[in-house]
Amino acid sequence: MKTLKEHLAESAAFHGEGCPGQTLGVRLARAGLKRIGIDDPLSDRWRKQLMVYVEIDRCAADAVMSVTGCRVGKRTLKIVDHGIMAAGFLNLETGKAVRVVAREQARELAFKYAPGIQDKYERQQQAYEVMTDDELFEFEDVSIEVPRQDMPGSPVSRVECSNCGNAVQDRREVRRSGVTLCKPCAEGGYFTRIYSPDVEAEVTSG
Ligand SMILES: [Zn+2]
Ligand SMILES: [Zn+2]
Repeated sequence: MKTLKEHLAESAAFHGEGCPGQTLGVRLARAGLKRIGIDDPLSDRWRKQLMVYVEIDRCAADAVMSVTGCRVGKRTLKIVDHGIMAAGFLNLETGKAVRVVAREQARELAFKYAPGIQDKYERQQQAYEVMTDDELFEFEDVSIEVPRQDMPGSPVSRVECSNCGNAVQDRREVRRSGVTLCKPCAEGGYFTRIYSPDVEAEVTSG
């Protein structure tokens, strides 16, 4: 395992700055890896045997990506946004999995470790480097089943939405009374389609 200092430097470069969330995320990832028996996640030995679920889309998420080497595009990192400062780590070879959750009390404990520092964020950042794993985190032994359509490798399926025609991979489609739909068509998406006279004209004239 690389040293904490090395991980912090790499993570700050990846994220664009050092910050308390970054430090906490680095500590969280290191603690998670240790508990599932992976010492060097970037090595040939472990690179393809690690899956991480990050439960927040803030600074710590970048730190977890930096330390673990897991990436959304490699399908080894999933963002399951619960708004919780937590992440699940799965060793695919042994099946060992742990969920690491940041303790709320860690924020207050930071006073004890860096009392001389006035700025709250600076104080937290420094304290998070030296506090113990157990002061910072709660560890839950969990079991994580990864569906085949979520694993790295070729897509397991590809179908067409019968409403909009978009191709949908990896069983993300919704089947409703015998009709296959993409999620935006079936459930609504993050976007709202804006009425476009041009598109409408094409459709009616075609
Ligand atoms: Zn940050
Ligand atoms: Zn659709």
